[in-house]
Amino acid sequence: MRLSKSFWQTYKEDPSDAEIASHKLLVRAGLIHKTAAGIYSYLPFAVRTLQKIKNIVRDEMNKTGGQELAMSFVTPAELWQESGRWDAMGPEMLRIKDRKQNDFCLSPTNEETITDIFKKNVSSYKQLPVNLYQITTKFRDEIRPRFGLMRGKEFTMKDAYTFHADKACMDVLYDKYYQAYSNTIKRMGLEFIVVEADGGNIASGDSQTHEFQVIADSGEDTIVQAKEIDYAANIEKAQTYRAGLDFTDACDVEDIETKDKATCEEVCEMLGVPVYQSLKTLVFTAVYGEKEAHYMVMILGDDELNEIKLKNFLGADHVTVAKDVVLDQLGAPKGYMSPYKLEGKFTVIYDEAIDLDKSYIVGANKVDYHMKGYVPSRDTSGYKVADLRLAKEGDLGPDKKTPVEFRKGIEVGHIFQLGDKYSKAMEAGVLDQNGKNFFPLMGCYGIGITRMMAAAIEQHHDENGMIWPMSIAPYQVYFVAIAKSDEFKVIADEIYEELLSAGIEIIYDDRKSGPGPKFKDADLLGIPLRLTFGERDYKESKEMELKLRSNGEAVKVTKENTLEKIKQYIEELTPKV
Ligand code: ATP
Ligand code: MG
Repeated sequence: MRLSKSFWQTYKEDPSDAEIASHKLLVRAGLIHKTAAGIYSYLPFAVRTLQKIKNIVRDEMNKTGGQELAMSFVTPAELWQESGRWDAMGPEMLRIKDRKQNDFCLSPTNEETITDIFKKNVSSYKQLPVNLYQITTKFRDEIRPRFGLMRGKEFTMKDAYTFHADKACMDVLYDKYYQAYSNTIKRMGLEFIVVEADGGNIASGDSQTHEFQVIADSGEDTIVQAKEIDYAANIEKAQTYRAGLDFTDACDVEDIETKDKATCEEVCEMLGVPVYQSLKTLVFTAVYGEKEAHYMVMILGDDELNEIKLKNFLGADHVTVAKDVVLDQLGAPKGYMSPYKLEGKFTVIYDEAIDLDKSYIVGANKVDYHMKGYVPSRDTSGYKVADLRLAKEGDLGPDKKTPVEFRKGIEVGHIFQLGDKYSKAMEAGVLDQNGKNFFPLMGCYGIGITRMMAAAIEQHHDENGMIWPMSIAPYQVYFVAIAKSDEFKVIADEIYEELLSAGIEIIYDDRKSGPGPKFKDADLLGIPLRLTFGERDYKESKEMELKLRSNGEAVKVTKENTLEKIKQYIEELTPKV
């Protein structure tokens, strides 16, 4: 591609709404154009990279035995009503009406459509498993679209869906997908971690779900990892253990005056004891459709509650901090509350980190007073116990020995065992060997194509611009020609034509500008190899410079050996599985 005849603009200034590198660089290097907040148009170079990402994804999907289809982007409300999600999806789903006032939505995901396709086409266990995928546009009216392509409203996703007769078959394909996703990200040259993810309360207890997280400081997700024991989980899900706790033995309760000291930290500081020897009382409301239930949730004084764990434990649609009117029912002042003699009102749930037979400092249910010697097993009659705390630095992994580390990641992929939630709700049953109807188990698997492009840049860039891994770079070679005389322009043209006809993906910077701006643009665009033809050098030595964008390594090449050298670098730099 000759730049002198191409549509391509670069910019010196970062866009004013950009906070992270990929957003800044994608705009500055002329890859994306903001059409509206969270809605981008992909310009020619971006389309090339996206195409390469899709091709790698496609190849790996096909290896799992998947067949590509393309489901409609606009889906009718009826399908979502069948699954029960028309109401449950909330405002992320953009609803529209046609001229006859029929309800539709722009697909945020496609479980309903695929289940409908399955239902109308599959009737026997003999047709299982079914493994279908698509690479299409999704729309989610994200509350805070941000970071360019990272969290858009409109984005491209590869989503796959599988249907199975039993759990064993489901597990086999799940493992294949796990491998396919790992291979996909490796082939894109990105460092990643597979983590245990939160599966919500959709599927049954033994169903699996994993996220594929590309490591980057700008990532929105927190990964809790203990490498030595091969443990990694999203903080939303991570179950870790406290180290070095030394609780006080059970003793009698005793009120202590704690005037103006309402927090666990303040009270424990006053008493000169570690904050974990106190318990925080949190009152939460769990919402189930139209219904509500209230709980007193107890965690160690220096822990935080993981609301996702609480929501899952209670099987609620969502949980929120209880409103004042709810707290009034307890009749205890804020900051001084505990279940002591109030437990009958709301169910009490203790976090697993609490040793129920030891004694703790808790609120005394009267202003300016706390109490010592509260023993959960003795002082509450009915209660539940669950893992509810948020993992934190200093915790131990599942072996209760290895300390965990925290890292930031970008979720580029998610694989999920759905159970029979959709096949059952939408009555997509099939017949088994005995002619009996059953609801197949489903798996769903997503990769963010446009987010992957942004994640690659987050992981591979420097102060001058992007540094594309070879496999997903828009082009392989950026050819800078600095030739003034016609004679040398002809030579540069010949070199370009030769490389082009040999199948090298090459950008020919034959624009009128000098070397400075050309090198700047080349660095910004981050094409892995830069070939520079300088008239003066070529006249003297018949040599050109071939330079790696990643580490600045440069070698001299001639017109005769440049193709071979380029091919060698392409091979070397293409990430392998
Ligand atoms: P997140 O927690 O980041 O919102 P999600 O759990 O909603 O993601 P899934 O529904 O599992 O995401 O979608 C599958 C994949 O689609 C994600 O792993 C991610 O790569 C991509 N994706 C999801 N939401 C967006 C978005 N708003 N913009 C770009 N890509 C997205
Ligand atoms: Mg989301």
